[in-house]
Amino acid sequence: MEPISPPSSQEAKGTEQTEGVGISQSQEPTRSDNFWFEDGSVVLQAELKLFRVHRTLLARHSPIFQDMFLVGQNDDDSNEQVDGRPLVHLLDSASDVEHLLYYVYDRSESTNPFLSLPYISAKLLLGKKYNIRPMYDDALDILETNFPSNITISEHCPLIDYWDRLNFERAGLLDVINLALKANVLTLLPAAYLMTAGDLNAILDGIEREDGSRATIPFASQRACILGRDKILREAPTVVFSWCQQSTPLPQFCVSQALCRAARNAVVQEIWNRNCDDLETYLNPVDSWQVGNYKLCNVCLHHARNKHNEGRRKMWDALPTYFGLPPWDELLEQARLNAP
Ligand SMILES: [Zn+2]
Repeated sequence: MEPISPPSSQEAKGTEQTEGVGISQSQEPTRSDNFWFEDGSVVLQAELKLFRVHRTLLARHSPIFQDMFLVGQNDDDSNEQVDGRPLVHLLDSASDVEHLLYYVYDRSESTNPFLSLPYISAKLLLGKKYNIRPMYDDALDILETNFPSNITISEHCPLIDYWDRLNFERAGLLDVINLALKANVLTLLPAAYLMTAGDLNAILDGIEREDGSRATIPFASQRACILGRDKILREAPTVVFSWCQQSTPLPQFCVSQALCRAARNAVVQEIWNRNCDDLETYLNPVDSWQVGNYKLCNVCLHHARNKHNEGRRKMWDALPTYFGLPPWDELLEQARLNAP
């Protein structure tokens, strides 16, 4: 756990970044519109934003805040004050602190405008830092639903629906990779890498956000995506699609050999022609690979489903190692130990 100390006079000076630099005298801290309570008992400052909130409420959620306020209480006189309330400087961004306060004061998230990646990110990072376990778990649940460490092989690959379910812009995918690295929740990486690995431009140049800024990933992640992409493209045809290779005999009781052979060839053709942008489609069930009018007979379809699912399971189980990560069980254990 990161130690967080109450504001000493030295720290307070350190946060006044404009002092002595002469950039601007006008950069006075301003009150938060959303979190300035007249009966608030403490003022938090993050960057140039002030939040007048309730000590007891924050302390109830976070043992870190509790300790911070206890120490602060002993020497109130020597501490800075705002409106007669002790001022506590936080080293977090103003928007992260605002997200934290939304969680503390208003947990009805279905109507919360901040159910966005910055909100989830703040909950995860500050949940860890301030030891607010339910807040951390909330954020992790949302992320794990969308970047799972396990998939149900009998179903459609859940990654495919990702963009429909989360209201993130596409650059958010790279932001999630950075968040997973920063929060040390590496269980999110295999799925996020898989979804990124199909897009070389995104890997190398990043993705532009709607606000014009650009999300990029560090070199180690670029390398992981490119090497993983190579392995997946080489292995998918034999691991997942072994059942439709020409050298694989048709099942003994196939009722329409010529048509089933044509159907298998059509799948091979489809894999060959397919743009590699959606690597995660290799993890889709066999039925999604039935091409045009080429249909397998029921015997072959049953056989194909079984073989295909075996391959999908094998590929999913190996997914972290394609990207140079430790196997799933080690990643899960690390994530467990990393929780606040
Ligand atoms: Zn058949």
